[in-house]
Amino acid sequence: MIIRKVAIAVLWGVLCLRVAAAEIEAMPVQLTAVERQMAAWIAERQDDLLAALKTHVEINTGTHNLAGIDQYRRLLAKELQALGFTTRERASEPVSVLSCEGGQLAFANHLIAERKGSKPSRLLLSGHMDTVFAPQDSFQKMTVDQHGTIRGPGVADMKGGLVVMLYALQALAANGRLDDANITILLNSDEEIGSLGSRQLIEELARAHDVGFVFEGSYQNTFTRARKGLGQVRLKITGRESHAGAAHERGVSANLALAQKVVEIEKLTDYAKQMTVNVGMMRGGEKRNTIPGCADAYIDLRFPTLADGEYLKSAIERIADKPSVVNPLYPDLPNVEVWGRLHRPVKAIHPQVDELIAEAMGLSLLLGEPIVGASYSGGGTDGSIAQAVGLPTVDSMGVDADGIHSSREKTTVKSLLARAQLAAVMIGRQIDKRR
Ligand SMILES: [Zn+2]
Repeated sequence: MIIRKVAIAVLWGVLCLRVAAAEIEAMPVQLTAVERQMAAWIAERQDDLLAALKTHVEINTGTHNLAGIDQYRRLLAKELQALGFTTRERASEPVSVLSCEGGQLAFANHLIAERKGSKPSRLLLSGHMDTVFAPQDSFQKMTVDQHGTIRGPGVADMKGGLVVMLYALQALAANGRLDDANITILLNSDEEIGSLGSRQLIEELARAHDVGFVFEGSYQNTFTRARKGLGQVRLKITGRESHAGAAHERGVSANLALAQKVVEIEKLTDYAKQMTVNVGMMRGGEKRNTIPGCADAYIDLRFPTLADGEYLKSAIERIADKPSVVNPLYPDLPNVEVWGRLHRPVKAIHPQVDELIAEAMGLSLLLGEPIVGASYSGGGTDGSIAQAVGLPTVDSMGVDADGIHSSREKTTVKSLLARAQLAAVMIGRQIDKRR
């Protein structure tokens, strides 16, 4: 058994290394006159792209800031309407939360923009409007320094990507390349909590299109070829409150029970198998002098195969079921509830995506900012959801990202321009493709 386990671990290591180091070679390509014209059109508009990005970034769109996302969605809808798209909104699916407070999560509406025409290929371009930065966060402004480094909340994740998409579309429109195109744009409002309220919409649209582009950030000028799957689990533990001095023995500590389970849950991380578990949030109790009656935790899972994801989820359920703190006066406590979702499927290598990356590498050489390769990532995107229902999706079309989800988030002016040029050319080529 142990030998089998070691063999599996080694095999996994080899497989994942092969994915990580996999070489995709640049496809030999030529730029057409119109493509060169579009690239020049974007290069001349550096100040416009930066001004647009500043406007986008400085509207706070933390996932729970519904008013901020509403304002941002209106701005995006206007810009897309100006490009000939018809826009509509869709309300989020309801998501209830297992926690001590309980309740529903509220999300802003998602935005869908469509342009229909007689061209053969149906393209789905997507991204998210929300960021991880709440309105009270100190990180709100965008700056550009003399080296061309852009800093700000969402400059890379992913308002930079949305500006790339918008200017690519504008360059296409300015050169008559959007005429008769079939393009749908999906911008959701809840990606940063796992697209729990937009998954059905993503799947629905993915099934109705031929190729997908997601404008999430890229790393060190690569494209992402394959991704781990992601899951999330919530635990809620109900004990019994009691006075910490006068009736300590009549309490059942939810904090103690949660602490014991967290130690067990964290042991599920297995780097050799590329499976990780992170208890990212824990809360419990309300007062120093009361035995805590409720505690909850919010847990992140990453895994290389669906079977691994299911294993992690059921392992946590087993840990939750194990008896922990025992008070013979209250044999039914603590009560432990579990909620879990494998919310982003594993994104596997896909021949059509590999081909698009190879083409992008060839084009990027000619455009002067070469993409250096394809990588394997532990981070998920909505492209994983789209591809899992059959849509080949290139999901790192956005700007080069560094320090995302922190006040160190940054990208570069060079990347903003280069990715907008590349997106214009890639989208333009896909519009006409017969399948
Ligand atoms: Zn993102």
